[in-house]
Order: sequence, then structure tokens, then C-alpha cells
Amino acid sequence: MSWRTPRTQDKYNDYLRTVASDHPCFLCLQDDVVYDRWKLVPNSFPYDIIAKPGTHFMFCPKRHVAEEHDLNDAEIEERNLIIRHDLSKTFSCILLNFDAVRTHKSHLHYHVWVTRSDA
Ligand SMILES: [Zn+2]
Repeated sequence: MSWRTPRTQDKYNDYLRTVASDHPCFLCLQDDVVYDRWKLVPNSFPYDIIAKPGTHFMFCPKRHVAEEHDLNDAEIEERNLIIRHDLSKTFSCILLNFDAVRTHKSHLHYHVWVTRSDA
């Protein structure tokens, strides 16, 4: 089951077919809101069945690390402060997909969005 509308899922599937294994990490290349050790990257293929348009971001460490256990103490401390004092006031939820459904596995990222009022 996808939280993307069929149109957005088709666009995402097309994108995935074009991405080579050595493609530069898009999470390393992009940002929008930047903290000391973390950043928010707009999701080009949002969960648009449940997310209000324009509100689905990926929250990721600046360092290219794959798993939570790869984070250092400073990253963990800042992540927790950002979630508590910023993200929780802006977004509806924070989600970490497990490996089975995570398509971009090499760079840890959480999904955040504002839930649609009609979802
Ligand atoms: Zn990366």
C-alpha cells in the first residue's frame, strides 16, 4: 500500500527507474531548512494521500549515514531538540520507514508532514 496517489506513485516509479546505483545522494545535494547537523529536504514525491500539499519533508542528518546507530551524540542531541522545539510545532507526525519499505537506504531520513484535514 502506498500513501501516494497513483499519479505521484507513477512519477516516483519513473524516477526510481532512472536512478543509477552510483547516483549522487539527493539528500546530500539538497536542503531547505538547515540546522547545525540536520536539515529538511522537500519530498518531490510526497505521501499526497495523507499529507497536505507542500508540507512533506525529509528530516535527515547532514552527514551521509544510513542508520540511527550511526549518529554521534551531538547529532542525537540536536535531533531530539529539533523534534521537541521545532518539528512538533510545525508538523503532524514524524515517521521512520523500516528497511522493507525504505527505497533510499543509504542516508537516514525521517518523513514529516502536516496531515490533510480530509485524510
Ligand atoms: Zn546522502
